[in-house]
Amino acid sequence: MIGITSYGGYIPRLRLNRMSIFQSMGWFAPAIVMVAQGERSFCNWDEDTVTMAVEASRDCLAGKDKSKVDAHYLCSTTLPFADRSCAGLVKTVLNLRDDIIAEDFSASLKCGTSALVTALDTVKGGEKRNILVTASDKREARAAYFYEMWFGDGAASLLVGDTDVIAEYKGSYSLSYDFVDHYRGSWNEYDYMWEERWVRDEGYSKIIPEAVTGLFDKLSISMDDVDKLVFPCFFKAEHRNIAKKLGAAPEKVVDNFHEACGETGSAHPFVMLVSALEKAKPGDRILMAGFGQGCDALYFQVTNNIESLPARKGISGCLENKKAVDNYPKFLKFRNLIKTEMGIRAEAPTQTAMSVLWRKRKMLMGLIGGKCTECGTPQFPKMDMCVNPDCNALNTQEDYEFADEPAFIKSFTGDLLAVSIDPPAVYGMIQFENGGRFMADFTDCELSDVQVGQQVSMVFRRRYADKERGFTGYFWKAVPLPGTAPIKEEKADIRFDDQVAIVTGAGAGLGRAYALELAQRGARVVVNDLGGARDGAGDGSKSPADRVVDEIKAAGGEAVANYDSVATPEGGRAIVDAAVKTFGRVDMVINNAGILRDKTLVKMEPENWDAVMDVHLKGAYNVTRPAFVRMRENGYGRIVLTSSAAGLYGNFGQTNYSAAKMGLVGFMNTLKLEGDKHNIRVNTVAPIAGTRLTEDVLPPDLFEKLTPEFVKPLVLYLCSEKCEENGMIFNAGMGYFNRVAIATGPGTVIGDGTQPPTVEDIHRNWDAINDFSVPKEFPNTTAAFGPMLDAFRPKKKDETPETKGKLSVGDIFKGIPKAFRADKAAGVDVVFQFDISGGEGGSWHVTIKDGTCEVTEGSAGSPTTTVKMGDDDFVKLITGELNAMSAFTSGMLKIEGDVMKSQLIEKLFKF
Ligand code: NAD
Repeated sequence: MIGITSYGGYIPRLRLNRMSIFQSMGWFAPAIVMVAQGERSFCNWDEDTVTMAVEASRDCLAGKDKSKVDAHYLCSTTLPFADRSCAGLVKTVLNLRDDIIAEDFSASLKCGTSALVTALDTVKGGEKRNILVTASDKREARAAYFYEMWFGDGAASLLVGDTDVIAEYKGSYSLSYDFVDHYRGSWNEYDYMWEERWVRDEGYSKIIPEAVTGLFDKLSISMDDVDKLVFPCFFKAEHRNIAKKLGAAPEKVVDNFHEACGETGSAHPFVMLVSALEKAKPGDRILMAGFGQGCDALYFQVTNNIESLPARKGISGCLENKKAVDNYPKFLKFRNLIKTEMGIRAEAPTQTAMSVLWRKRKMLMGLIGGKCTECGTPQFPKMDMCVNPDCNALNTQEDYEFADEPAFIKSFTGDLLAVSIDPPAVYGMIQFENGGRFMADFTDCELSDVQVGQQVSMVFRRRYADKERGFTGYFWKAVPLPGTAPIKEEKADIRFDDQVAIVTGAGAGLGRAYALELAQRGARVVVNDLGGARDGAGDGSKSPADRVVDEIKAAGGEAVANYDSVATPEGGRAIVDAAVKTFGRVDMVINNAGILRDKTLVKMEPENWDAVMDVHLKGAYNVTRPAFVRMRENGYGRIVLTSSAAGLYGNFGQTNYSAAKMGLVGFMNTLKLEGDKHNIRVNTVAPIAGTRLTEDVLPPDLFEKLTPEFVKPLVLYLCSEKCEENGMIFNAGMGYFNRVAIATGPGTVIGDGTQPPTVEDIHRNWDAINDFSVPKEFPNTTAAFGPMLDAFRPKKKDETPETKGKLSVGDIFKGIPKAFRADKAAGVDVVFQFDISGGEGGSWHVTIKDGTCEVTEGSAGSPTTTVKMGDDDFVKLITGELNAMSAFTSGMLKIEGDVMKSQLIEKLFKF
């Protein structure tokens, strides 16, 4: 079967209210009021026949394999080049194959239908299988003329082929007459029109019926076999009369779009046919005729395939996307019908280097950049080196098309100083979601509607006109898409797909922000919120949690609401159960629910103390405990606790809240040790944000600035697999982040550890006790005791600060054979691998077999046990300054492989 396999359309977004032409020029040409109904489409200043053809063709190729297109015919009477293949240009922009025919059909308004017949006959002949036929016109007329009213700009595209046919081609009939209703001499700017009455009576109303009846005879059909009749004729009454003459009932006649966009020249039969196909049902029979120096009539029957054609903008989509314009001088300026002063800057040279255009045609015309074959990062422009700093591979770039990639605005400006036909010039940085960015001009937008994060689509547009040399330069621009949700993130490589998060108190404030972003990044979220008052009073309400769940679902995410209170163990269990029952697991818990009951201590009644403790401190215990059990089973978990500056530093009137918030730090300090070996990380955030809790505390201007969005990124990072941090506290607010630590001063020794010092001793040594010149953090209690035990450890003979530590890591390994106790090695067959980090570090392995010991520098293939340590710590361990058990529990010593065999080390060597 041969026929149409796809269609596409393009009508520019700008529509001029025809009455505005009359309002400006009616004093001069009162008769134009007769056709001043509705709107006509007109190109933006940077659009022309070529750019519209590109858009219609892209629309037509949606869902089609471009590599299968064997020819491209571009049809127009208004091509921007009289001698340069515009079809070849459009073909390059569309990134069609090079080994195809790209040909312009021109010089008659029926060039579109003639090209279509040619294409269908070629496919029928078996020479080619898929041909893209695009018709596009931007016809010019002098100001205040009927034709300025009648004309519109537009394009439409049809793909013809022999597979997946949506409208079967049944046949055609063509007439060629040298009927000159209008013409444009090769040295003229505008068409010369002959008298309308003659054109109407001798042209349209005779030639179209002749072609249609010729087709009827040829195919032995009649108007009864036609469901939709498509033929352009901008004489409204004549359009109706011709249809009547042919015996077509009014409902069969497809609208000629005079009111919606005007007549789009050679594209109009296609525009009307596309509109008919958009509404067609399988079985519909469509007769289409194109007039101009004769007439082509074609007959199609719609097939079932029309129902599976992927969605596209089409003509109806373009007609909906309109910007009504009443500003007639703007229309005149855009069409270069009035001369304005453009300023000195407009005189900048615009010559195009044809050699560069040829060399970089893929980039400049096809918007082709590169994609690294090693790491998959796209980049624009294509270069020798991959831009991904973790890759930087050389010569690994393959071609990558950006034109249809989703992108959004990273930054933009409206520039009134730059030369522009439609100031201000709007341009900015656009970021492709999957990688790649560049500084682009924006078009088809108003500065006031542009937002950072807004999605854009790429369009091929005119950039400059080199009038002196008659050349038009094109490149790709970005169209901000109205109403699209701002994308705040670049391609999110921190994702939570397949993970399940619990966020407590997620119905509002900070928790809501965390939940929304987690869901946006792929997590399934339990949105817990009791919905109580700020002080925790009231029976609660389901609506805050429900609202957040609705928001998540509306954005395509997954979430479930939970209304239990964190303040009881049953509530905590129910929250975790909700996660497990709904989503099957728990990977993250953000303990965030919170209330306030501020009172100075004297007025702090036990119920206020307890209520705050219950929600914040016990709440974290209640939820984390059952979640921790699940995480341990899964060998993975991320827990975030919410502290506060009030707890870390103190705040008047908040003893309850401060105690609870600091209590959470203690909770974390121990939980981090319990979770460590199960890959469960627990960290704490101390946020500052404008929410219900702070609305009467923060000054209004600060409240506005301190949105929860600024805290959210840190908390989400702490929840991610990428975060290896454990037991840390962070302040976060307004984009300022820092780490908080509990640190210990170097302190001092009073006495010898056998006699307790006196109160007076303490007083005398007060400054030394207070010394905080070299604060130190400790990972756990054992490590924190280290300096105390060290202070009273008996010094070795001859040990002075100078001799201490003189032994190097290398010395130790050299000395190992000497320290080896062969008598203890009977039956021992092990390889100990030592990976020592630090300046003196390196890798050694010690092989013990058959009572012998061999030390070799480097890594063993498959060691029995691997010991990992810092160089200083290793020296201290060997020299007895560091206890092996405390080194192990504090994390200074890491043992991998057969941990039990590591105990042999003490037995086998005597240092
Ligand atoms: P918020 O009031 O907007 O949100 C807290 C949410 O917790 C509320 O929706 C509330 O209904 C819910 N909640 C209260 N008790 C609950 C319970 N028993 N069970 C379940 N949900 C309960 O306040 P926010 O500022 O977003 O607070 C979030 C967390 O951040 C709190 O822990 C708070 O103490 C802490 N914090 C906030 C700030 C700040 O500047 N906003 C500063 C430091 C700490």
